[in-house]
Amino acid sequence: MKNIILVSITTLLLFSCTQKQEVVQKAEPKGPKNIILLIGDGTGLSQVSASQYFNPDPSNFDRFPVVGLIKTSSADKLITDSAAGATAFASGIKSYNGAIGVNKDSISVPTIVEEISQHGMTTGVIATSSINHATPASFYAHAKSRGMYEEIAAFLPTSDIDFLAGGGLKFFNQRKDSVDLLAVFEQNGFQVDTTTLPQKAGSKKHAILLAERAMPTILEGRGDFLPKATKLAIEALSSNENGFFLMIEGSQVDWGGHDNKAEYLISELIDFDKTIGVALDYAKENGETLVIVTADHETGGFTLGPDGSNYNKISPTFSTGGHSATMIPVFAYGPKSESFGGIYENHQIYHKMKLALGQE
Ligand code: MG
Ligand code: ZN
Repeated sequence: MKNIILVSITTLLLFSCTQKQEVVQKAEPKGPKNIILLIGDGTGLSQVSASQYFNPDPSNFDRFPVVGLIKTSSADKLITDSAAGATAFASGIKSYNGAIGVNKDSISVPTIVEEISQHGMTTGVIATSSINHATPASFYAHAKSRGMYEEIAAFLPTSDIDFLAGGGLKFFNQRKDSVDLLAVFEQNGFQVDTTTLPQKAGSKKHAILLAERAMPTILEGRGDFLPKATKLAIEALSSNENGFFLMIEGSQVDWGGHDNKAEYLISELIDFDKTIGVALDYAKENGETLVIVTADHETGGFTLGPDGSNYNKISPTFSTGGHSATMIPVFAYGPKSESFGGIYENHQIYHKMKLALGQE
């Protein structure tokens, strides 16, 4: 009798342990298949807040369930530039201001685009600057200085990038070395567009270069380039069964900050906000996409103070023509988004993305 009871208890214990294990396994959430990383260059908390006060439409920033904060200092400066900032996101290391995909000793480091391409994922970069400008460049190129525009452009046609859209045409077809990089794109399986965004994604890779240098500003009539290019990139990249990584930069929020022009800054911010909406709508419907929105740094020391003593009217002001050192918000939505909460260093964004993909 005693033995029977013992056996029963053991069985019961074993059974409950197995059950518990099953519960634990079920509770472990599945990682994302796709990642969309949106970088608002120079977009600090006051810039984000402007989307609540100056955007006639509801702010897409309000749709994120997870918010964190990053510290953005570079390896050599308290205040980072966009090159070191993007290199931290793309390669998971702190480097010096001006570094594009290289470490403190100017040695090339692998980028997330190069690494995940090895896993069969498709990749894309979109910017409203030239496509070889510091932020997008750090995802596919390696250069000791951000100013090496022609060298940086030369990386693109043979890089792992499958979709690119932005400005910078002159760095591809009017080069000092006379190489026609548009032809090199075509030799490497790209459809090249230099006048308008294609209506639909084709079967080839896409190189879309719609301005000689930067894209026009919103105030100059850029229109819906950024949200539309984002939609097109998602259409092109998502046909891959192994998932995709897409980096989209609202490049000119930073330039509005440098110019201390609130109207410029806010119009670019609203365009970026709209683009976030496109990414979130896709992620919501798709269910396997992690969306992260952040910035490399704040620009302009932008402040939403009152208009004189009128506390019912906001009169934006600036405290610098450069970047500032304030912490930067990170917004996350989708599978593994919870890991983006808290306060951490900017290069952890890379490690969190790799971890979410189960590749670290
Ligand atoms: Mg930038
Ligand atoms: Zn800047």
